[in-house]
Amino acid sequence: MRPLSQDEIRKSFVNCSKGEAKSLALPARFDEITWEVQDFLGWRDARARERAYLVVPRDDEIIGLSLRAAPGRRSGLKSNVCAFCTTVHSLTDIALFSARRAGAAGRQGNTVGTYLCAELACPLYMRGKKKPEMRQTRETLTEDERVTRMMGNVQSFVDQALREDV
Ligand SMILES: [Zn+2]
Repeated sequence: MRPLSQDEIRKSFVNCSKGEAKSLALPARFDEITWEVQDFLGWRDARARERAYLVVPRDDEIIGLSLRAAPGRRSGLKSNVCAFCTTVHSLTDIALFSARRAGAAGRQGNTVGTYLCAELACPLYMRGKKKPEMRQTRETLTEDERVTRMMGNVQSFVDQALREDV
């Protein structure tokens, strides 16, 4: 994605109050973000780990979603798959993220949730910048194909969060 300013990021949020968007913790070491490998930006608040954020380029827009994270523990499972990038993780490296929906639906308490890489580092896994700790199912897709598939999953999550109907 193209490099964003801190101001652009704060203004992109669609499902939280202006106050939260203004005060939320931006990614640590903001100046060191390698934008060309970040197909989207996802991070967790280092001081309040239950808070997480997603910033996604969408057509000419940038959509920011404020998320809540919960540990991804489910009995009987040893591993789980990220719904964005399909990387297989042990349960400690995966978390359940939920986003309050935008608009009226969100005001009525509607959320959308999904299991994702706990650090939201999906683009780094897809582009081989970060190695998953578990053995992955073998795939024949190219890097571009993997990134395209991931972004399709990300956009459909954003779609669900943006849907206005209750
Ligand atoms: Zn992922």
